[in-house]
Amino acid sequence: MTSHPFRRQRRTAAFLLLPSFPLIASIYGVIVCLLLSSGAWADTSGGLKAWPDRDERQEGRTVVLGFDGVDPKLVQRWMDAGRLPNFKRLAEQGTFQSLATTNPAQSPVAWSSFATGGNPGAHGLFDFLRRDKKTYAPVYAIASVEESGRKLEMFGLSIPLSAARVVNRRVGKPFWMEAEAAGLRASVLRVPVTFPSDDITRMLSGMGVPDLLGTQGTFTIYSTEDLAGENVRAVKVTPVAGRVETVLEGPLHPLYKNPDPLTVPMTIEAAGLDQVRIELDGTELTLSVGGWSDWVPLSYDVAWVIGVPGMVRLHLVQAFPNLVLYVSPIQLDPRDPVQAISAPPGYAKKLAKRIGLYHTIGMPEETWSLNEGIISDQAYLDMVRTILAEREAMLFDTLDQDDSDLVVVVFVQTDRVSHMFYRGLDSEHPLHESASEEARGAIEWIYGEADRILGKTMDRLAPTDRLIVLSDHGFNSFRRSVHLNRWLVEKGYMASKPGQPDSESLFSNVNWTRTRAYAIGLNGIYLNLKGRERLGIVRAQQIEQLKREIAEQLLDFVDPDTGAPIVLTVYKVEDLYAGDEVKDAPDLIIGYAEGYRASWQTALGGVPAPLVEDNLRKWSGDHCVEPTLVPGVLFTSFPLDSPVQSIRELPELIRQSFVKSRLDSRAVSQ
Ligand SMILES: [Zn+2]
Repeated sequence: MTSHPFRRQRRTAAFLLLPSFPLIASIYGVIVCLLLSSGAWADTSGGLKAWPDRDERQEGRTVVLGFDGVDPKLVQRWMDAGRLPNFKRLAEQGTFQSLATTNPAQSPVAWSSFATGGNPGAHGLFDFLRRDKKTYAPVYAIASVEESGRKLEMFGLSIPLSAARVVNRRVGKPFWMEAEAAGLRASVLRVPVTFPSDDITRMLSGMGVPDLLGTQGTFTIYSTEDLAGENVRAVKVTPVAGRVETVLEGPLHPLYKNPDPLTVPMTIEAAGLDQVRIELDGTELTLSVGGWSDWVPLSYDVAWVIGVPGMVRLHLVQAFPNLVLYVSPIQLDPRDPVQAISAPPGYAKKLAKRIGLYHTIGMPEETWSLNEGIISDQAYLDMVRTILAEREAMLFDTLDQDDSDLVVVVFVQTDRVSHMFYRGLDSEHPLHESASEEARGAIEWIYGEADRILGKTMDRLAPTDRLIVLSDHGFNSFRRSVHLNRWLVEKGYMASKPGQPDSESLFSNVNWTRTRAYAIGLNGIYLNLKGRERLGIVRAQQIEQLKREIAEQLLDFVDPDTGAPIVLTVYKVEDLYAGDEVKDAPDLIIGYAEGYRASWQTALGGVPAPLVEDNLRKWSGDHCVEPTLVPGVLFTSFPLDSPVQSIRELPELIRQSFVKSRLDSRAVSQ
């Protein structure tokens, strides 16, 4: 038997009576399930029900548009104000409801449940980050690289015999694979956690695609001042006679044993007021302050005629004498990607021929350089505009080819703008007063853009087509950063090495032999378990009591400045998840109250001094809170027999949209 999660405020007395459903990701889900479940949606494992074959199939296409992070409160507000006419039209034609997200309410987790119908215990993604049990280091959770290990050593070179393989860590079969197995043709574009691509009619991979350095997005800053900082690759340059000669470092030389990075040459010189002239690997261009360049193709020479292709965009923040030049992460060139980013592999190139070059990295929106104050609000929004136009062109290119029964596209720009500009929307955010007019209007603008794309999509659909629009979660403000590892230290669950000051960096001064719990990622706490963690001390018989003790104390954790509760719920892993992957889940999952989020330092295993502090960074909105606070949205162009209870039920909804008898029976009943 499992128990209900630890809660600060029980909203209704019913909570006390509810059994908990291990497979359902939130309390909201439990309530809705008890109230509404007729069994029709109960089986959502994704793989059990057959997709209709050609004879039984409903005529027309099913088109699924995802808008990451679109919030039901904001959609309602702006529909009521007449700002979202196409969302309103769709709601009137079919349905609009809020849609319970996963626990935690994080995009990779929720889009994986969307794809597979599974809970995180089944698909294995619990956070952006997981931890290495041996080193306690945070590790990217979405994809991992398996080195082939086999190398040929000769002439001082170390030649890999077969390339390293990138593995999508999501477990389970996505619904588009099942649709294809049933003879449907599926086009899936830029859905998060789809790298490497699945072998279907058409796929362009989304979140998970690395840059040419193998990272999730390393940009470079050239500046006459020293701008080196956290996660910033800064190159300090000194002009000689008004000219800078430098290089743009690329990937490590793939053939040498102790390799240096490959480089391409770059020169930068003044070109009149507020302008610079740049020559980068043979491409000449002039940039004005605030401007973005077109794509600049690069070729990193390896040996003989072998080169590694990549491409970048440049943005001039400041001209000489105080030069600040931003160079985007080096993206795989879709015309010749060093690893396949599409299915079939040649689709990425064909697409580039039809719509032009486009961002290929999994998360191209430059949230970090805006957060670090390197680029401006305006530059960020200009970049979002460019990416949005590319994604729009991809969607319409596929819709217009009309060769797929199922089309699934996710736009993440709604999420990325909401993260960076919530300070403009929320009058209680510490940065609200200083937010520009542009910042205040940015989220309404991106919702308007989503509405515009929705309208153009609806105009392209035939009467027999079905349209489903959803988001993976909603949003709220991120006003205060919570240093959860500091809290664990203060409560005696985490210990510092004797005689050493506490440090901000990666658990560097943690005494593991006296530490019982630690936080990594945005919602998790792990016990330092004997036999599991390398230096674990918590014994099996202590687990239950320790979890209860930590949970109870977290529910008493109040903001030292305001007395407001910081944590609404604490979930035990066994109450939330079921499946083979549970072994990698955190032991406790924290549901923060509105306005609070784990600090960036907490996510990476840092232990800074304060317990809680104002969030003074531009990343000012978030959704890594108690999931019932941030449901997503669901719109359908057709009526539903009963509400859809969670994002996990989308595979079943999409399957049913192809079943002729189901739509026939609904037509009769109307
Ligand atoms: Zn997000």
